[in-house]
Parts: sequence; structure tokens; C-alpha cells
Amino acid sequence: MLSEKRNFIDMFQIRLLEVLCNQASITIANAKLYAKIEKLATTDGLTGLYNHRRFQEMLSEEFKRLNRYPSPVSLILVDIDYFKKVNDACGHPVGDLVLKGVSEIIREEIRDIDVPARYGGEEFAVILPGADTESSKIIAERLRKAVMDKTFPLDGKSLKVTISLGIATAPVDAKYKEELIEKTDQALYHAKHSGRNQSVSWGDMQ
Ligand code: GH3
Ligand code: MG
Ligand code: MG
Repeated sequence: MLSEKRNFIDMFQIRLLEVLCNQASITIANAKLYAKIEKLATTDGLTGLYNHRRFQEMLSEEFKRLNRYPSPVSLILVDIDYFKKVNDACGHPVGDLVLKGVSEIIREEIRDIDVPARYGGEEFAVILPGADTESSKIIAERLRKAVMDKTFPLDGKSLKVTISLGIATAPVDAKYKEELIEKTDQALYHAKHSGRNQSVSWGDMQ
């Protein structure tokens, strides 16, 4: 009688464990699925960098933080020079390889806390929390030189590209997110129209 009861409890406990394990594995599968969907929604498929939407969100976060702790945040916008010519001369798939290569260089050259994103077609953005214009300029120049030194293999021939970069810093150059983007873009425009393959900060233009 006693042993029958013990068996009953054992069976009950085993069943309970099965139900709990089932529930746990469903929860883990859901969490994995959620993480996968989240990654798809926030990263760029070609380069694996954050996409434009996530970039905007992260820059907004930096501006919220700026209201609490007054350390600077800088933005670098990167645009590949004459990229259309790469596509025209070598084809779109080669252009894609160059985009991937440039994105890898950006990832390698920035600091761990910096946030790299694909801003648009052949444009990239880097958010630099805590960095003033001077230290951002050092990072921008490091990026520019690394891209300039890179040779992309192409059917035995070598393909090289250069980039132009714009830099602006909040709060010194801009109080609001849109203003920071606008001024960084103007600095990039200046870099383009005064020779390309260079980095220009908003401060340089004043
Ligand atoms: P500039 O020096 O003034 O920046 O000249 P550019 O030729 O780089 O500028 P433009 O904006 O005229 O050309 C950008 C090109 O980038 C045009 C477009 O076909 C190409 N592009 C945009 N997205 C992609 C992409 O995902 N893959 C490839 N291969 N090309 C892309
Ligand atoms: Mg462009
Ligand atoms: Mg370009």
C-alpha cells in the first residue's frame, strides 16, 4: 500500500517535470526566435552593421543621455568616393564586396563603445559616445587611411577605393539629433567638394 503510494508520487513528479521541461523549452525557443527577429529588424543584411532605423534610435538614446551626463557625443558620416564608377566598371556584386570590405574596416578601426551603422547605399555612420571632435578626427583619419591602404582582389587585378568623412559633435556643434546629423552631413559635403579622400569636421568649417 505504502509502496503503491510512493510510486504514484514518483509518477506524478515525473509528469510534472515533463510539463515544466516542455514549458521551458517553448520559452527558450520563443526567446531565440524573438532575438532572431530583433536582429533581422535592426541590422543591415549585406554588412551586418546596424541599419538606418536602429542608428536613429541609438543616436536618440545618446541625446537622452546627454541631458543627464554632459559628456560629448560625436557623429562621423562616411561616403565612398566615386562608388558609382566601381559598380559601372566592375559590376554590382563587386560593389557589394567593396561595401562589405569597408564595413569590416569600420568595425576593426573604431572603439568598442562606438556604434557603426549602414546609413544608406554606400554611406556609413559611426556614433562615438564620449568622444570630442579632436578624438573623433583621429578615428576618422584612421578609418580613411585603412580604407586607402586596402586592396580589394579582383580577377588578378587590384581595386582600390577612398572615402570622405564628415564629423560633428554634440553639444558643442548641435543641441539636437537632427541638427547633429545635418551638420555632419554638411561637413561631409565639404569634404567631397574640396577634393574627397579627406575628413572634415563642422568645427574645421567655421
Ligand atoms: P561621390 O564621390 O560624389 O560620393 O560619388 P558616388 O559615385 O559614390 O556617388 P553616387 O551617390 O552618385 O553613387 C552612389 C552609388 O552607390 C550609386 C548606387 O548604385 C550605389 N549603391 C547604393 N547601394 C548599393 C548596394 O547595396 N550595392 C552596390 N553594389 N551599389 C550600391
Ligand atoms: Mg552617397
Ligand atoms: Mg559616394
